[in-house]
Amino acid sequence: MTVVEPEPTPLHTVLGPELGQLFTDLHSEHGVRFHFGARLTEIAGHDGMVLAARTDDGEEHPAHDVLAAIGAAPRTALAEAAGLALVDRADGGGVAVDASLRTSDPDIYAAGDVAAAEHPWLGTRLRVEHWANALHEGPAAARAMLGREVSYDRVPYFFSDQYDLGMEYSGYAPPGSYDQVVCRGDVGKREFIAFWLSEGRVLAGMNVNVWDVTTDIQRLIRAGARPDPEALADPAVPLTELATA
Ligand SMILES: Cc1cc2nc3c(=O)[nH]c(=O)nc-3n(C[C@H](O)[C@H](O)[C@H](O)COP(=O)(O)OP(=O)(O)OC[C@H]3O[C@@H](n4cnc5c(N)ncnc54)[C@H](O)[C@@H]3O)c2cc1C
Repeated sequence: MTVVEPEPTPLHTVLGPELGQLFTDLHSEHGVRFHFGARLTEIAGHDGMVLAARTDDGEEHPAHDVLAAIGAAPRTALAEAAGLALVDRADGGGVAVDASLRTSDPDIYAAGDVAAAEHPWLGTRLRVEHWANALHEGPAAARAMLGREVSYDRVPYFFSDQYDLGMEYSGYAPPGSYDQVVCRGDVGKREFIAFWLSEGRVLAGMNVNVWDVTTDIQRLIRAGARPDPEALADPAVPLTELATA
């Protein structure tokens, strides 16, 4: 199988190059060939049968089946017809909501994949396409509709299982937002936690085949902790001790 990917690694826009490489290696070991830095331009075939996929760098990749996994666009037609403020597609798209999940119409709320919500302490607007976000935003929007004080401030979270690698990611640290990646555990064995830091502050963490640490990772992020990187990398130092650093 060949994967055509415009970015330099899989999951690059979320994990950056350092940890994206982990997923390149993982899939390569399972026989996947990557073609990075290129976009699909054409599917060539004959008599209704696919023969090849072509990319914008002039390469041709022989193929009989093509799977287009190019992301999802939020369906905002109803919101647009209702005159609600939307977010530009270039900025992630979706229906603009404040931290209480209220749209530009005070009587209409939005939650889940379609909602681009102002995050109260990340200082940015986020549209999260993950199960956990949809699960938690719905009840939060309902509370706001009932007149309760709501500020949806959960740490962004997602999980993924790929072959025998299971991971959970908490926080928000796209490439460009962090200046250091610290790992604790055995990266070679794929049993570790990676942390993304900016000026020493923990922005995000990903546990790979290490479990029951999400609460501790999220505590570090929420606390704005600036732990000593050596202690952060040392599995003998409990994460709970570092949240106050
Ligand atoms: C292939 C795939 C794999 C995924 N894997 C993971 C995973 O491993 N982990 C994870 O955390 N998340 C995963 N997700 C994401 C997760 O499925 C979504 O985040 C979640 O389903 C979002 O819930 P939602 O209710 O916001 O939106 P949806 O589940 O998309 O529900 C929105 C509903 O609104 C309907 N609708 C749209 N327009 C209108 C309209 N005008 N009127 C009425 N109804 C309308 C749609 O038909 C749809 O049924 C995956 C998603 C996909 C597609």
